[in-house]
Amino acid sequence: MLGSGVPEDRPLARKDNRPPEQTRPTRFTRSFTDLPGSVLSECGNTKVLCTVSIQEQVPIWMANRHAGGWLTAEYAMLPGAGQPRKPRDGRTGRPPDGRSLEIQRLIGRALRSSLDLAVLPEMTFWIDCDVIQADGGTRTTAINGAAVALYDALLFLEERRQLPTWPLRGLVAATSVGLVDGEPLIDLDYREDSSAEVDLNVVTSDSGNLIEIQGAAEKKPFSNEQLQTMLGMATNACVEIRKVQKQALGLPDAAPADAQ
Ligand code: UDP
Repeated sequence: MLGSGVPEDRPLARKDNRPPEQTRPTRFTRSFTDLPGSVLSECGNTKVLCTVSIQEQVPIWMANRHAGGWLTAEYAMLPGAGQPRKPRDGRTGRPPDGRSLEIQRLIGRALRSSLDLAVLPEMTFWIDCDVIQADGGTRTTAINGAAVALYDALLFLEERRQLPTWPLRGLVAATSVGLVDGEPLIDLDYREDSSAEVDLNVVTSDSGNLIEIQGAAEKKPFSNEQLQTMLGMATNACVEIRKVQKQALGLPDAAPADAQ
């Protein structure tokens, strides 16, 4: 027994007594800087600045193919975003951080899936996700904020009559889910993430379908049944996150984000 009278084998309560299926408070602050899309995305203590810059050309491998536009993403953590301080990418003479590369490719794939690239003029959307403060779930917080920032960047182009048709299929939403002491928990903070036996990141489409699942048994293998439970919880949580995204954008809950 611990001094508090709590049995030692009992899992620690979640911060703020958060129920297992509940995400942390989620908030999107639009027009955070002056770019066409600029959103401060917050999930609990995790804060990510998500910006969209528009370049009027496509990558060399797409040039002269008349195949539409492109979207790509970069992700980085500011040195003081986590503990201990992390040197800025590229400052130590070592190759780029593999974790950052993995995360930025995930963000790029997630956001590309929400766009009909073929109907875009030749242009590239650069999604930059910079983690200001990290407390678990930085990649999912980045995806959620980037979806809102991309919507704003498209509105910017539409106002300037630079879009032949509205190319967005909907808003992507993402969350993490894991097993901590055998219990499935949504949206792990750093403390939970570091003791999780399983950690999944789940990206969903506006219609609630799955776009990508990233996950691994970090301590012990998990069953198909546990996977299904976690996926069910994650897709439900994404419905709630999408409501907050739509609220931030002033869109009605039920309206698909492809309707203007
Ligand atoms: N983290 C950190 N420094 C690092 C990598 C991770 O402080 O270089 C912390 C940070 O709080 C992050 C958490 O570990 O959110 C979990 O990292 P993970 O790689 O699982 O990615 P995330 O959950 O942030 O998408």
